Amino acid sequence: MNDPGLLIVVSGPSGAGKGTICNALRKRFPNIYYSISMTTREPRNGEVDGINYFFTDNLHFEELIRIDSFLEYAQVYEHYYGTPKEYVFNMLQQGKNVMLEIDIQGAMQIKNKYPKAVFIYVIPPSLDVLTNRLKSRHTDSANVIARRLAKVKDELEWLSEYEYVVINDELELAVERAAAIIVAEQCKVSRN
Ligand code: 5GP
Repeated sequence: MNDPGLLIVVSGPSGAGKGTICNALRKRFPNIYYSISMTTREPRNGEVDGINYFFTDNLHFEELIRIDSFLEYAQVYEHYYGTPKEYVFNMLQQGKNVMLEIDIQGAMQIKNKYPKAVFIYVIPPSLDVLTNRLKSRHTDSANVIARRLAKVKDELEWLSEYEYVVINDELELAVERAAAIIVAEQCKVSRN
């Protein structure tokens, strides 16, 4: 049997730039597969079902929870988000590497169920920078931004639960740091 692939879990406060970093990593490492999450939130402009997320409703999501379809799931900003279990396990069993971009609650569930995963936390260089980034994305209302910022301070307290931190001061540098972590993990003799 193949050695199982690497499960890479990337989290960080909203606006820290983890999505952009993950996209850059996907281009750089074609041997890393990205798990598409399911969510009950509305699609944003330009988001496509089956590409950015699988969009669904509460009823369907709760049925999937009931039949244990998720590797992890959480409620984030009043919406459900979850990682479909089957895809991730199939890929790992085939020796393929999988990357998840999920929130802290989900990452902690994975830590319990699959401690061999690699946990990376992306943080912004400062709260001011984060505020500007959230505003310039033009994807969320002022209310939503205020709520997200209020949550960031709590979120930063979880940093010590992760193995690696990537400060996103300059995107290219941050991608280099994250890439270095992945290369090092791929070179490890054993993760036991
Ligand atoms: P957004 O609505 O901005 O796309 O995502 C909101 C938050 O949900 C982000 O922190 C994102 O990482 C997280 N998220 C996305 N997919 C999942 C998932 O499958 N599980 C969990 N636990 N969080 C997720």
